[in-house]
Amino acid sequence: MQTQKCNKCNKILDLTDQFFHKNYRSKTGYSKICKTCINIRRTLWIDATGYDEPSFYDKCDGDSILARAKVLYSGLVSRSRKNQIPFDKNILNVKFIYDWLSKTSQCECCKRELNYSFKGNNNYASPTIDRFFPYKGYVIGNIHLLCWRCNVLKNNTTLQKMEIVVSWMKNI
Ligand SMILES: [Zn+2]
Ligand SMILES: [Zn+2]
Repeated sequence: MQTQKCNKCNKILDLTDQFFHKNYRSKTGYSKICKTCINIRRTLWIDATGYDEPSFYDKCDGDSILARAKVLYSGLVSRSRKNQIPFDKNILNVKFIYDWLSKTSQCECCKRELNYSFKGNNNYASPTIDRFFPYKGYVIGNIHLLCWRCNVLKNNTTLQKMEIVVSWMKNI
């Protein structure tokens, strides 16, 4: 019987369906991590992120900041394409966004603690990338890390329009 050492727990197990998931990309035809370890990782990932999608989990390896970076990046790609706006593709890659998120804990505008997990829908504290001047697009100098709430409030508005709302609110 052929055996394989699990890359995670180092147990030597029979190379069968009982202990390993099939993986066509691997030489042996089986995943290098045993089923028990995969299940533990998956549970940790769902707990940490609230995001239960196996393929996405595999790509992010349980790192919710990486998951956020990937989600934000794909948003930049699709929005810049859809709105035909500039996008610093060579600089603003997943790694750049990942590093940016890793060293930023608060919304630049309201100072709310940003929440990188995927728990809760429309979480006010979810991170978003704002284009200060929407037409200038996603370029260094024009992008800011804001909470979802601030980004929605600011959405497409100008200082003048915002001041009208503020003075109306103050006077009501
Ligand atoms: Zn294992
Ligand atoms: Zn905010």
